[in-house]
Amino acid sequence: YDALEQFDPDIAGVLLSELDRLRGGLQLIASENLSSPAVLTALGSTLSNKYAEGYPGRRYYGGCSEVDKAETIAIDRCKALFEADHANVQPHSGASANQAVYGAFMKPGETILSMSLPHGGHLTHGTKMSFSGKWFNAVNYGVDKETEDIDYDEVEALAKEHQPKVILAGGSAIPRLIDFERFRKIADEVGAIFWVDAAHFIGLVAGKAIPSPVPYADVVSFTTHKVLRGPRSGALVCKEEHAKALDRAVFPMMQGGPQMHTIAAKAVNFKECATPEYATYAKQVIANAQQLATSLGEKGIRPTTGGTDTHLSLHDLQGINVTGADAELRADAAGIVLNKNAIPFDPQKPNIASGIRVGSPSVTTQGMGVEEMKQIADLIHKAITEGDGDPDHAVAKEVRAQVTDLVGRFPAYPRG
Ligand code: PLP
Repeated sequence: YDALEQFDPDIAGVLLSELDRLRGGLQLIASENLSSPAVLTALGSTLSNKYAEGYPGRRYYGGCSEVDKAETIAIDRCKALFEADHANVQPHSGASANQAVYGAFMKPGETILSMSLPHGGHLTHGTKMSFSGKWFNAVNYGVDKETEDIDYDEVEALAKEHQPKVILAGGSAIPRLIDFERFRKIADEVGAIFWVDAAHFIGLVAGKAIPSPVPYADVVSFTTHKVLRGPRSGALVCKEEHAKALDRAVFPMMQGGPQMHTIAAKAVNFKECATPEYATYAKQVIANAQQLATSLGEKGIRPTTGGTDTHLSLHDLQGINVTGADAELRADAAGIVLNKNAIPFDPQKPNIASGIRVGSPSVTTQGMGVEEMKQIADLIHKAITEGDGDPDHAVAKEVRAQVTDLVGRFPAYPRG
């Protein structure tokens, strides 16, 4: 850091002020977490210098002896953690992992059956704005209007009607467990590949807090930076029969040189995830998310599906007459970082939205428990119903003071 501060005080200042921002507020974005200093050390290492196109022992560059060790360790740990036949740890991100799945299993124009974005899917699951919807034919299922959970009968009916090459389960705003067994049965009925995008919940699987998709799916893609708490990146695990196709789809089809510093950081993270402390963490993440959902619900901020089984809950704000955009702004002014989110059958446009998504991974990393979640729910409610988005508003100041007290007791990246 000293070298950076001397040479480039502008960027050094940003690193410090971002650390202050993390320490000063409540981070409730469901897709974020606080990686350990061990992970961050590997990430900021000289392994970033190395070109290593190819795979361990089969590189297109010399000098790969040391990075080969890092990648082999990462692969072995990933396979052991998820009890998978095969792992590829090279995807640069969740989106690039997903790109590789399309590359391995589909040709342009073929059909994928996936969850619609407004009901909880992801951009890369076939939306028209993304390569996935431009190059492939996406048919979407959604949630049931009553239960707000996945409508499995609709999935089955659409699969029979459209005979997709691939059926995809997973998304960015799904609070409930997914029935992988049912998906597998539907995929088998129509001869489709079954793909799970586990980006959001893979950390809960790693901590053995929820059932794993690995025994059921042909391929599982995921990000490594959400509940999992590793570096910002992606990875894939699959059945042995798909290993070659998937490896070729990552490199050379979709990517060039792998980021060896990030792969080393993923190895560190997989080791962390295999500890009893991480298993305890994963269970606490769920207990905290459930408490947050319940406490917000008691204040009229209704959790969709009635609650959550995972690390996130989605809340309908129509009952308190606040839009998602206003809630995000008002919470932010009070030191609470969360995001607006469309809810199923949302009457608002996506950039306004009728909901918010809240997640417990970061505050749980800070050591908070269910008592703190009750307090956080009170603070969110006060900030978004009485504040106006101005950080100088009396309510924003009052809530911010309580947030400061709370994060002072449970600091992110404690000093020393
Ligand atoms: N898949 C899902 C379900 C996600 O939620 C996300 C990101 O939020 C991604 C893929 C893409 O990950 P990345 O942002 O690393 O490309």
